[in-house]
Amino acid sequence: MTKTISGIAASDGIATAKAYLLVQPDLSFESKNVSDIDKEVSKLKSALEVSDSELSTIRDKAAESLGEEEAQVFDAHKMILADPEFTGAVEQKIKDDSINAEQALDEVSKQFITIFESMTDNPYMQERAADVRDVSKRVMSHLLGVSLPNPALIDEEVIIVAEDLTPSDTAQLNKKFVKGFVTNIGGRTAHSAIMARSLEIPAIVGTNVVTSEVSEGQTLIIDGNDGDLIVDPSESDIQKYQKMAENFAAQKLEWEKLKNEATITADGKHFDVAANIGTPKDLDGVISNGAEGIGLYRTEFLYMDSAELPDEDSQFEAYKAVLEGMKGKPVVVRTMDIGGDKHLPYMPLPEEMNPFLGYRAIRISLDKQDIFRTQLRALLRASAFGTLRIMFPMIATVQEFKDAKAIFEEEKKNLISEGVEVSNDIQVGMMIEIPAAAVLADQFAKVVDFFSIGTNDLIQYTMAADRGNEHVSYLYQPYNPSILRLVKNVVDAAHKEGKWAGMCGEAAGDPIMVPLLLGMGLDEYSMSATSVLKVRSLMKKLDTNELKELSEKAINESLTNEENAKLVEEFMSNK
Ligand code: PEP
Ligand code: MG
Repeated sequence: MTKTISGIAASDGIATAKAYLLVQPDLSFESKNVSDIDKEVSKLKSALEVSDSELSTIRDKAAESLGEEEAQVFDAHKMILADPEFTGAVEQKIKDDSINAEQALDEVSKQFITIFESMTDNPYMQERAADVRDVSKRVMSHLLGVSLPNPALIDEEVIIVAEDLTPSDTAQLNKKFVKGFVTNIGGRTAHSAIMARSLEIPAIVGTNVVTSEVSEGQTLIIDGNDGDLIVDPSESDIQKYQKMAENFAAQKLEWEKLKNEATITADGKHFDVAANIGTPKDLDGVISNGAEGIGLYRTEFLYMDSAELPDEDSQFEAYKAVLEGMKGKPVVVRTMDIGGDKHLPYMPLPEEMNPFLGYRAIRISLDKQDIFRTQLRALLRASAFGTLRIMFPMIATVQEFKDAKAIFEEEKKNLISEGVEVSNDIQVGMMIEIPAAAVLADQFAKVVDFFSIGTNDLIQYTMAADRGNEHVSYLYQPYNPSILRLVKNVVDAAHKEGKWAGMCGEAAGDPIMVPLLLGMGLDEYSMSATSVLKVRSLMKKLDTNELKELSEKAINESLTNEENAKLVEEFMSNK
């Protein structure tokens, strides 16, 4: 029977493929005393053997589809399986305590994890805790006879169905086979959704029910434009969506004609339409979509894709590749924004009640200065290869900006005295994501070179609504006058000091928001690469003289998000 499941449209596009359930199985077990020790030991040994051969297959597949570097994590897992200190200890525990293999594995792996995690002065050993956790999970699954999902083994076209996807899960998806994903939880600006847009695969989040309503292998049509998932579609559904997919493709071809044009409004004004990236691999999309620069390079993905803290040289190579690839066009690099929903397995952060309000981004950088200085040095060295701009995330106070900037200046001086070539024209700015900074923009404008407004966080903090929580997703209200007033305050404050203001949150690529932002005089618009041509085509139709009045109306006369959406829609219907 055909059914439709609705959720939040998170990434455009339409695709048809079979369901792949990325659902973690229940690994709970019963602890038992055993009398037949040999039988228990041989059960352990065969689980270890199957795990090892499974890891070899996953490793080879990962190397083939994702690259050697991504595959190395599985080598580390195989080494743990081959380490007699670990597996021997499990075997010994079965013998000494006459307990079942599951219980012995659980106890030994917990001991190892605790020991590794306590090695705070040895980050390499700390990182091994995450590996032991993964390996034990795999061995446990074989002891219990259940199977773990292995996305690296996917070798046919699928649509992933999951409770949630972490940013690192999303980073590992192989676009060749993964045609889309649908999750139970999440919001439009959660990082998995943002990454789906940069991978150019359709996505729906926040359905609440998809994992319980869809079974492995069922045929699905995902409509990421409207947020509908069709389960077991009828022949007429297939035809209808086929037609919609064709129309979408035709529209994209039309936009593509604008690829090599600058973004000029109907009254002849130029605005920079730039793209957001997570890794140097995203450059292809930036170039193929004709972006006029990179307005946000989320460098934390460099840290998340790595098995350990990336050193100065590997960071330098990544930044240099992006700067060279952009051939002199501006590249705004944001320093590491870890915390919130982005974690590093090798840098355990304290458990927090409210991670989005906790230890994250610039707060970590100012605290762990060695990590921050390494990143700044890599950036400064790369600055000789293009037009680099640096910005700091999650700035709440003027003092934080000044402290971060002072460290930047120190590292610049150090490099120059070491004889390293460094550009002397690097703009240093900040993100406006915290209402305190938006309100006090006039003071910040005196010390920064530019602002980039991060609406994903600015809206969540202003409305007090978690950006990843589907139950409060109605409070993601970019056109709410409260948000528009903050944005206007930031743009005006920047201009008063002769600085520029951009936006790199998802709202910058939203066709309702763009006319309002143009009316406020926002200078730069940075978005998922796939939105660039759509926005360029929109801006070409708009006259900024008319938009000033429109945005003033939205800011001063309207009461709601919906009223403003309607205001813009009506205005656009005459275009
Ligand atoms: C934002 O908060 O709007 C932003 C662009 O940063 P991120 O989405 O990475 O938090
Ligand atoms: Mg943010």
